[in-house]
Amino acid sequence: MSASCFLADAGFDVTVFEKNDSPGGRARKFEAKGFRFDMGPSWYWMPDVFEEFFGHFGKSPADYYDLLRLDPSYRIVYSDTDRLDIPAGVDNLCKMFEILEPGSSVQLLKFLEEGKFKYEFSIHDLINRPGLSVRELLDTEMLSGVFKLHVFESITTYIRKFFNAPKLVELLEFPVLFLGAKPENTPALYSLMNYADMVLGTWYPMGGMHRVIEGMVSLAKSLGVRFEFNSNVQKLEVNSTSTKGIVVNGVLQYFDYIVASADYHHVEQDLLPASHRRYSEAYWQKRVMAPSSLIFYLGINKKVDNLLHHTLFFDEDFKKHAEEIYDDPQWPSAPQFYVSCPSKTDPSVAPTGCENVFILIPVAPGLTDNEWTREKYFEMVLKRLEHLIGQNIRDHILFKRSYAHQDFINDYNAFKGNAYGLANTLLQTANLKPSIINKKVKNLFYTGQLTVPGPGVPPAIISGQVVAKELIKKHREFVT
Ligand SMILES: Cc1cc2nc3c(=O)[nH]c(=O)nc-3n(C[C@H](O)[C@H](O)[C@H](O)COP(=O)(O)OP(=O)(O)OC[C@H]3O[C@@H](n4cnc5c(N)ncnc54)[C@H](O)[C@@H]3O)c2cc1C
Repeated sequence: MSASCFLADAGFDVTVFEKNDSPGGRARKFEAKGFRFDMGPSWYWMPDVFEEFFGHFGKSPADYYDLLRLDPSYRIVYSDTDRLDIPAGVDNLCKMFEILEPGSSVQLLKFLEEGKFKYEFSIHDLINRPGLSVRELLDTEMLSGVFKLHVFESITTYIRKFFNAPKLVELLEFPVLFLGAKPENTPALYSLMNYADMVLGTWYPMGGMHRVIEGMVSLAKSLGVRFEFNSNVQKLEVNSTSTKGIVVNGVLQYFDYIVASADYHHVEQDLLPASHRRYSEAYWQKRVMAPSSLIFYLGINKKVDNLLHHTLFFDEDFKKHAEEIYDDPQWPSAPQFYVSCPSKTDPSVAPTGCENVFILIPVAPGLTDNEWTREKYFEMVLKRLEHLIGQNIRDHILFKRSYAHQDFINDYNAFKGNAYGLANTLLQTANLKPSIINKKVKNLFYTGQLTVPGPGVPPAIISGQVVAKELIKKHREFVT
């Protein structure tokens, strides 16, 4: 949708084909029994990216939704008697750090200052780095900044240079979960996520994350983009070096350019003939995927105490859980989990007196997923949740739906049922990600979370801008 806005704005006639019956992909919503659930994203981070996106078209997020900064940003639960609320604002964070490790507030300021450099360097310049040439990585600014980016050091080592208290280390390693790799395999460059978390803050669009999608659709339509839902793209029709169009629900439709925003692996392996694929199946099998998720959407017919809008349950050992996601993929023995309860902030997402609860367990991609396994984890997590928050939930469930690998495959053609695309390891960063262009099909471009810059709603939005810019450049070369 991001790419469609930039391309329509540049004068192209754009149609979006979506296999599902509504827009948003992984960021869709569904409604049931008076509850409105965001299906995927719940953390609105990097508000500047949304500002810049809408700003490009003379709009602002406020034209489409009301944003609220959450304070506390989130809660971490270690046991039924030990929890930590992470306050909004650096001054309050400094006070919290001092309590957990005397002297650490000075370190925090230095840590965040370095994170700010990385954030501004990486995020604001990403649009100029489509990942097509090593020259992008060799410009003077990049080279002069490379040591300050800590690309070749792991975030685990980096954080421990600043802090000793286990709770602080764990807190600072948490945003890495969004990046889909173990902290020891994630470059310290990504302390930019700590800057995003602690300085830029955790926000919420009133009405739900889906408001962002509605805003983008509304903007796209105002720019002339057409949307075709229930439109399954089954094939890219190619000749020797280009594509002439796509087969949608059995009918060939002709286009000058195709931007493929479905899962990259699906586009290549299912929609293109082998002769025109940029990457082989062997290449994909060697990629490190970010985790999939086992999700439960619950409608609860009472108010639930001791949950915030975002609550992370760190009562089990993350090291073991991470090994079972990344090193020896299997259903986890005792997973950490996350609960979002947006009705704490927003009464519109649940009937009066009720609570909208979303439980997410990160799990390895590619696992065999069946009802029995889902139920086993539901029982395990519900029991722990009830104990940790001291509340009965079981007898108050009005609505329940589960979602895991097989749903990601059925709904989005997700490779191995991934939720967040590729892991952001050093060898899968920037130019080492699957490319936005296909050298064998000159009018085909790729966008979305499996290409640059990576997973997450803000990066997906930037990805759309990057690919639109490249397409417009190529178009100018073709016509002149
Ligand atoms: C459970 C979960 C929680 C998340 N939490 C957060 C969060 O808190 N904050 C955050 O910023 N990000 C979060 N993310 C990540 C974020 O949602 C994604 O990175 C982003 O939405 C990906 O957008 P995309 O356009 O690349 O892919 P998608 O959203 O998957 O869009 C691709 C679209 O292509 C369609 N499609 C696929 N195949 C075809 C076909 N053959 N024909 C037609 N259409 C097709 C799909 O239906 C889909 O709509 C989360 C993701 C998940 C799954």
